[in-house]
Amino acid sequence: MNDNPAPVLRAQGLVKTHYGESGPAHAVRGADLYVRQGEFVAITGPSGAGKSTLLHLLSGLQQPDTGSIWLDGERTDAWRESRWAVERRKRIGIVFQFFNLVSNLSVADNVELPALLAGASPKRARAEREELLAELGITGKERSLPAELSGGEQQRVALARALVNHPPLLLADEPTGSLDSRGTREVMRLLSRFHQRGQTIVLVTHDARLASAADRVISFFDGRIADDATLESTPSHRQGASGVLRLHD
Ligand code: ADP
Repeated sequence: MNDNPAPVLRAQGLVKTHYGESGPAHAVRGADLYVRQGEFVAITGPSGAGKSTLLHLLSGLQQPDTGSIWLDGERTDAWRESRWAVERRKRIGIVFQFFNLVSNLSVADNVELPALLAGASPKRARAEREELLAELGITGKERSLPAELSGGEQQRVALARALVNHPPLLLADEPTGSLDSRGTREVMRLLSRFHQRGQTIVLVTHDARLASAADRVISFFDGRIADDATLESTPSHRQGASGVLRLHD
């Protein structure tokens, strides 16, 4: 076993200020982060703490004012938007609160599109899509449009889309924020399952209960990391504990 896996993601000195109508918002005020291969890290904190901004910086969707990011040891400072778009497709799967599926494309096409854009053959894209949708329990809905599915199903499609290119890193920004309790349980169970198979995950959530599914919890407050705690037992050991989300109901 490798005791010292390479960092999938490293960030140093990240700062980001938004300039809105109500003046500057100092969303991220100096964040350092080191995520190892296979970790499941939750970033939690109150609304407005800067969690989403941090995730946008880590995925290149926004550029930091200062600070650096490394993906698999490669420094990204010089990457322009087009390069980030290409690298995101290969290296980073992202799921959002509101799914962000393409509304006029079928479930199948939503999942296959990123594979095709990354250069997979139609046959390969289809095979990947079939495997992932089966795994996520949404076979038979391939020809449906996203709006014809429940929220939980749409998020599972979004998860399939995020994972179709086997990215080393999965980023999830409040992925259960618009789901009911059943959808929330489903999505958290799937995240845990992918993590158990080695997927590196960074989950942003304001819900401390969901954060307890991760094996490391970073508390983000006022644009800074206030605490970074590795939980002692694995989630599977904690399932029975009172007050902790039960993932396998
Ligand atoms: P969180 O995800 O923890 O709720 P955010 O990163 O969304 O926090 O927001 C952090 C701060 O930055 C808040 O004060 C928010 O209003 C502000 N903010 C976020 N995005 C923008 C934006 N695009 N323009 C202006 N202000 C923003």
